[in-house]
Amino acid sequence: MNQQVAIVTGSARGIGRSIAEKLAQSGFGIVICDINEEQIQATVKDIEKIGVKAIGVKVDVTNASDVDRLFAETTKAFGRVDVLVNNAGITKDTLLIRMQESDWDAVMAVNLKGTFLCTRAAGKIMMKQRSGKIVNISSVVGVMGNVGQSNYSASKGGVIAFTKSVAKELAPRGINVNAVAPGYIETEMTKILPEEVKENFLKIVPLKRPGTPEDVANVVAFLASPAADYVTGQVIHIDGGMVM
Ligand code: NDP
Repeated sequence: MNQQVAIVTGSARGIGRSIAEKLAQSGFGIVICDINEEQIQATVKDIEKIGVKAIGVKVDVTNASDVDRLFAETTKAFGRVDVLVNNAGITKDTLLIRMQESDWDAVMAVNLKGTFLCTRAAGKIMMKQRSGKIVNISSVVGVMGNVGQSNYSASKGGVIAFTKSVAKELAPRGINVNAVAPGYIETEMTKILPEEVKENFLKIVPLKRPGTPEDVANVVAFLASPAADYVTGQVIHIDGGMVM
């Protein structure tokens, strides 16, 4: 029961999966939490091959009772929660004047409310432990805005503001709360973007290549480690220099 444990939301695929793998390689027990049940089981099997204990929990992060169950199952299996990575996120891109109320609500619910619900649940446990690391996945779009993403950019900007407030609240209990702001990362989420949009992104990336999920996982693993014990309330850009 003494193994350190990390919960990564939205970790059945993409950036979240890569973060879970990296944290497993650092020795953390892993909780794979996602809405995609089939993919959860496949990811858990792959994480176990790294040599750590892993469990999968089907959770919709927008649902408070699902989130309670996630933390109950984690403490039952591991007895503690050391790291929470709020990674689950969705897009529903469209121009403002065409945006439906449901497009706005869905994106806010997963990206912002989901981050709140999971952070609140983790905070309660970490405050008792007097230790913990929380890493929120924001986006460069939450800093610089983007055409067709007013809902997404508002949610990711909200994640940054939330990170700073919670970092201040939880710091006295030895809990670090930081955010990362990835740029254009090649995953299923960005696969659907039109070629023109991808090319336009690359034009403003000084390092002249898209990011990989591993590029994000490396920085998250640093923020989850004791090497980042004196870092809190920060937003680290992982964007090839897009925003500087
Ligand atoms: P993916 O869509 O590839 O993965 C997101 C995962 O989250 C999926 O497995 C998805 O499940 C899951 N998920 C969606 N909704 C919920 C929910 N309500 N509860 C639990 N899990 C859920 O995205 P990426 O890996 O690209 O993105 C990961 C994070 O990084 C997101 O927060 C995204 O906003 C952020 N980001 C991504 C960038 C990029 O360029 N890719 C850039 C900047 C930030 P399902 O497959 O069933 O939908």
